[in-house]
This record gives sequence, structure tokens and C-alpha cells, in this order.
Amino acid sequence: MSLAEKVGYLRGLLEGSDFLGGDPKTKAVWEAVVDVLDSIIDDLYTLDEVQSELEDYVRAVDDDLSLLESEFYGEDDEDDGSIELECPECGEIVCFDEDLLYEDNVEITCFNCGAVVYSAEDIDEDDNDAEDDDDEEDDD
Ligand SMILES: [Zn+2]
Repeated sequence: MSLAEKVGYLRGLLEGSDFLGGDPKTKAVWEAVVDVLDSIIDDLYTLDEVQSELEDYVRAVDDDLSLLESEFYGEDDEDDGSIELECPECGEIVCFDEDLLYEDNVEITCFNCGAVVYSAEDIDEDDNDAEDDDDEEDDD
């Protein structure tokens, strides 16, 4: 028996029986109580619906997330930690071990054309190429 059915049963007892001794005041109080129970049940059903919608939503988000996770992590896991980079010069795909990324002074060059594909020292030291020779010699 559902909650609504139980309250309906109570309401039936209230209407039909004479256990209250026919006292209209007492009956009114009990009717008010049953009305409150009805309202509570209505609220519970509304909550239940909202909860179901939320569960559906969370499930959909979870599905999307697992999809993204498999897209994001899946390929690298299968590849036992190797990384592919495209050579900026000739477009050749260069494979190397992921661990190399975490080492210092690493430079990975294209096996095809020899261009630097990846360098651990990306921080510029200094480019002193653009020095102007405008020393003016003053002979006095
Ligand atoms: Zn190359």
C-alpha cells in the first residue's frame, strides 16, 4: 500500500465510521490532520520527481564524462607512454618515449630532416644576433 493509499484509507475511516462519537469538532481536527498528510505526500512526490530528473541528469553527465576520459586518456594508455609529434619542417611523425619529456637538456630531432622537434630548453637564454655595430670612434 502506497502512502497515498494509506491516507486515502484513513480518510475513508474518517468519513464512514462513528468511532469519533459524531463529535464535529474532533472530526474537523482529524480531517485537518489528514489534509496535512496529503500535502506532505504531494511534496514527497514532487521531490521524488525532481530527484529522478537529477539522477537522469547526473547519469548523462557521467556518461559524457567517461566518454571524454576515454578520449583523453585512452590513446596514451594503449601506446605504452610514447608520444608522437609532427616535425615542423617536413611534417614527418616523430615518436619518442614520454619519459624523455621529464629529463633535462633533451632535444628530439626529426629522423628524416634533422630539425628539432622538441627541446627541453624552451626558455630563451639570449639571442645576441641583433647587435648593431654602431660604435663611433672618436679620434681626438
Ligand atoms: Zn623533419
